[in-house]
Amino acid sequence: MRKCYKCDKKAQIYLPQHRLAFCKDHYLEWFDSRVEKTIKEFKMFDKNSKILVAVSGGKDSLSLWNALVKLGYNVDGFYINLGIGDYSQKSKELALKFTEKIGKTLHIVELKDEIATIPEMKTYDNRPACSICGTIKRYFMNKKAKELGYDIIATGHNLDDEAAVLFSNTLNWSVEYLKRQYPVLKEENGFIRKVKPLCKISEKESAMYAILSGIEYIEEECPYSVGATSIDYKLFLSQLEEKSPGTKLRFYSEFLRKMYPILQSYEEKVELGRCEICGEPSMNRICSYCSLKMKLQAKKEKTV
Ligand SMILES: [Zn+2]
Ligand SMILES: [Zn+2]
Repeated sequence: MRKCYKCDKKAQIYLPQHRLAFCKDHYLEWFDSRVEKTIKEFKMFDKNSKILVAVSGGKDSLSLWNALVKLGYNVDGFYINLGIGDYSQKSKELALKFTEKIGKTLHIVELKDEIATIPEMKTYDNRPACSICGTIKRYFMNKKAKELGYDIIATGHNLDDEAAVLFSNTLNWSVEYLKRQYPVLKEENGFIRKVKPLCKISEKESAMYAILSGIEYIEEECPYSVGATSIDYKLFLSQLEEKSPGTKLRFYSEFLRKMYPILQSYEEKVELGRCEICGEPSMNRICSYCSLKMKLQAKKEKTV
C-alpha cells in the first residue's frame, strides 16, 4: 500500500511523472499549489487582476476556475454557446450549475444571436469546424473581456494540449507558431492578456481534480473534433508517456526553457491594424470574424 507523501493516510492517487502519491485532500492541495506556482513562474497575474476564465463545461476549464477561486483570485467565467446540439446544451447546463455552486458570475454569449451557430456556419464555410470555432472564440473572448472590464483571459489548456500543439508545430517547423507558443500572450495591439495556468497540469490530473472536488463536467468531446490530427498526436504522446513518465512535461517545459528564448531573439515586431468594421485588431482591412459574417450574409441572401 502506498502512503500519502504528506500524511499517514492511504494514497488515492499516484502521479508517476512526479513520483508522488497523495490522499484526496493532499492531492487537491498539490494541484492548487501547482497552479499557483505556474501563475508565479510565468508572472501571469496577481490578486488585483480582474480575470475571466473561458469556460467550456469541460474538466479543464471548471477545474481551473475552481482552483483560482480557492487560491483567492478575482475571477468570473465566460461561456460561448456554440449551438452544437446536445453537446452545447449539456455543457451550458453544467457550466451554469458550477457557477451557481461557487457563487460567481458567468457571462454568456449566444452565437446564434451574434452571427450563427457553428453547424449553420459549417454549411456556408468549407474550412474545418475547429478552425471556424477557434476564430470565433478568440474574437469574442477578446472583445467581450475588454467590454466587461477584465484584464486577463485564462483558458484551461492543459499539458496534453500544449504538448500536442508543440509536437505538431515541431513536425512542421512552423516557426511563427512556435514563437507564439508560450503560456502568456502579452496584452498588445488591442489584444487582452491571455494565460494558460494549467499548462503544466496533465489531462489526467485535471480530470482527477474535478472528480475529487465533486465538479460535474461534460465528458463528451465536441462532435466536430472527431478525427482531428491533434487527437492522434495526443494519443502518440500518451504512449510515450506510458513508457517513460515525465516525457510530456519535459518536452514542453524544456522547449519553454531552452528553445523559446532563442526564437524570441529573432522576433520582428508586427504592427497590427484595426478592422474597419468592428475596430478589433486585425492583420487585414477587415478582420476574420467580420469577413466570416459578411460571407455568411452574402450566401444567405443568395439562397433566399
Ligand atoms: Zn495526505
Ligand atoms: Zn471586424
